[in-house]
Amino acid sequence: MAAVPKSRRSHREVRQRRAHWRAHMVPGTECPHCHELKLPHRVCPHCGYYNGMPVVAVEKE
Ligand SMILES: [Zn+2]
Repeated sequence: MAAVPKSRRSHREVRQRRAHWRAHMVPGTECPHCHELKLPHRVCPHCGYYNGMPVVAVEKE
């Protein structure tokens, strides 16, 4: 048995699938404290808050 698909995927389908895999790894979670964009499941680099508590001290200018 050869591992050959019954119907070939079109170029458009392949390109659309490969164009979308990046979409869910783009950083895009709003910090609930300072409302800046931050990485999901990370301490906010802008205010140092995570889960409603100050976790790390952020330098103030
Ligand atoms: Zn923040």
